Amino acid sequence: MLLLRLPDGSVREFAGRIRPRDIAAELGPPWSTTAVAARLDGEVLDLDRLLPESGNYEFRLLTPQDPEALDVLRHSCAHVMARAVMRLFPGVKLAFGPTTESGFYYDIDVTPPIREEDFPRIEEEMQRIIDQGEPFERFEWPTPQARALCMDLGQPYKVEHIDEELHRFPTLSFYRQGEFIDLCRGPHLPHAGLIKAFKLLSIAGAYWKNDARRPQLQRLYGTAFFRPEELRAFLEQLEEARKRDHRVLGKQLRLFTLSASVGPGLVLWMPRGAIVRGVLESFIRDELLKRGYQPVYTPHLGRLELYRTSGHFPYYRDAQYPPLFVHPFGQMVDSWLGLLEAGELSQEQESAFLQLSQTLRLGLADYSPQKDVASRIAVLRRWLDSHEAYLVKPMNCPHHIQIYQATPHSYRDLPVRLAEFGTVYRFEQTGELSGMTRVRGFTQDDAHLFVTPEQVEAEIQSNLELVLFVLRSLGLEGYRVRIGLRDPGSAKYVGDDRNWSQAEAVLMNVVRGLGMNYSAEKGEAAFYGPKVDFVVRDSLGREWQLGTVQLDYNLPERFQLEYIGADNKPHRPVMIHRAPFGSFERFVGILIEHFAGAFPFWLAPEQIRILPVSDRFLEYAQKVELELKNRGFRVTLDARPDKLGAKIRDAQLEKIPFMLVIGDKEVQAQTVSVRHRSEGDQGSQPLHQLIEHFIRLNRPPANSSAT
Ligand SMILES: [Zn+2]
Ligand SMILES: [Zn+2]
Repeated sequence: MLLLRLPDGSVREFAGRIRPRDIAAELGPPWSTTAVAARLDGEVLDLDRLLPESGNYEFRLLTPQDPEALDVLRHSCAHVMARAVMRLFPGVKLAFGPTTESGFYYDIDVTPPIREEDFPRIEEEMQRIIDQGEPFERFEWPTPQARALCMDLGQPYKVEHIDEELHRFPTLSFYRQGEFIDLCRGPHLPHAGLIKAFKLLSIAGAYWKNDARRPQLQRLYGTAFFRPEELRAFLEQLEEARKRDHRVLGKQLRLFTLSASVGPGLVLWMPRGAIVRGVLESFIRDELLKRGYQPVYTPHLGRLELYRTSGHFPYYRDAQYPPLFVHPFGQMVDSWLGLLEAGELSQEQESAFLQLSQTLRLGLADYSPQKDVASRIAVLRRWLDSHEAYLVKPMNCPHHIQIYQATPHSYRDLPVRLAEFGTVYRFEQTGELSGMTRVRGFTQDDAHLFVTPEQVEAEIQSNLELVLFVLRSLGLEGYRVRIGLRDPGSAKYVGDDRNWSQAEAVLMNVVRGLGMNYSAEKGEAAFYGPKVDFVVRDSLGREWQLGTVQLDYNLPERFQLEYIGADNKPHRPVMIHRAPFGSFERFVGILIEHFAGAFPFWLAPEQIRILPVSDRFLEYAQKVELELKNRGFRVTLDARPDKLGAKIRDAQLEKIPFMLVIGDKEVQAQTVSVRHRSEGDQGSQPLHQLIEHFIRLNRPPANSSAT
């Protein structure tokens, strides 16, 4: 007997195998005409899926009003897109085609690649498929036969996926729509005719299973809706978002640039962007001095050995620029070691390395990868250890640790708080790079705190309060708080379990104590410890981590850090890594979008522009300019012979907060006529009065919570 509890609370009994469609029919209109899928407990099912014979479940029919139904529609549309692409481009190999928050994509492998110019004919073909309204039919085969079917269909990625992950299931499901068959878990719409509005959006590079060592694919993005007006609203919103895009505004407002000659992901701050950054630097520097931080400076490089001790190398070598070896063959020995350790040495590489071994007299002449790999690894390690090598720094912590270690510390000195705007480098994948938000070189507003175990909670708390203060000062309220915990199954974390559990418990405790809403996510910790991240969304809805506070019992262990306790014995301090902005690059990128380029007065690269109506008023205009400059405001004078209207338009486009118009009347009365970029004409005022107003505007809105 099957017992289903419906949303109205009623419980229905069913005997024999039935489908959601039968229940919809029994309930009659509107369900019989509007249901497109169903939900059984947590699982979304096709309308034609057989329900279990017995059991006790929550059951609900899904109509176009349900968010889950929209997902079903969009994934169905991904199938339609894949089918259309396969009709138009021979030899298409399919990877994965999931839904996203705003649509769907399908990763495909096709040569020559698809271009945006192909979108109209793909969309035309999709419309043809939708118009035919064919059903999506599900069938299940035993896994060996399912694998053979994927082979027959010429879909090697699906075969690989079965071999890697799905082989443990006894059967696998497919969905067929006409000639198109796809290995898929579902669910799908009953038929394609329900897709009333769709659009292809963009195309990007992606790796098979998001792994940069695996084949490069194309990711084809689209979206779909049950109603055309929803698509229209979505596209309008997208257009609005594009106007806020920091990559567009950054160029338009001359804030930053990227140059292929310098290298991808390496941001060049233009004068106007540099002003915004400089103001933020002063803002945080002043705040840190109040809070007992000590500024330090450290170089951009460090010995490779330093990072072996810290654990940043080789754990994160994939995400770092390769080490710099002083010896000309250093890089090769390092690659050799890497390949040996990974067990990925090919025949060809083997013979090349054999020669290298002779050149360097490593004594590995009879080298063969099968024999005694461990002792060969040891030989290469020894060679590398005795040859100088450097890493451009991926993190600032090891340098700050050296500063801590340069002098002895007593418990009375702690907390030691070392702060630096430290520039670090990470070798992010080219396809992942994005404007200022995902880059290869960036400056963190970094600091490392060395504290006694008893001070941990109070310091974590005051750092979380600092991040909240920073976000409040900038008016960034739409953040979420994520506690990154370790994934106990992963090998990427260093340090013992007891330390980890302790650190995780402390973080959770403090965050709860502050009454913050948070989500705890496994696998999001730093390799040395758990952390609290402040995550915001950009104009396109993508999430980015900004501020972070991280607790670390491990690096003090690895570097054998000490302080002398009240008992006159050495003790181990605890470290806190934290950056309230995260990095200046990403933070300013997000700020550009948050303010849509219209920075508040205290942050604006140019705060005031003086607009004389004609040459005759230039002298007075210069006097006003000088007065404002002397007061420390960022002011310019537009002395071009253009019409006032044109000057106002330009200042508006550049999003200058205030325009001061100067004509006959103003010179006579020794005033200025004030115009605000969004509020328009503010009337005329004596300059000294306006200066008082500007002084009030020239500081961040929130006051420090430091005591
Ligand atoms: Zn599917
Ligand atoms: Zn650190």
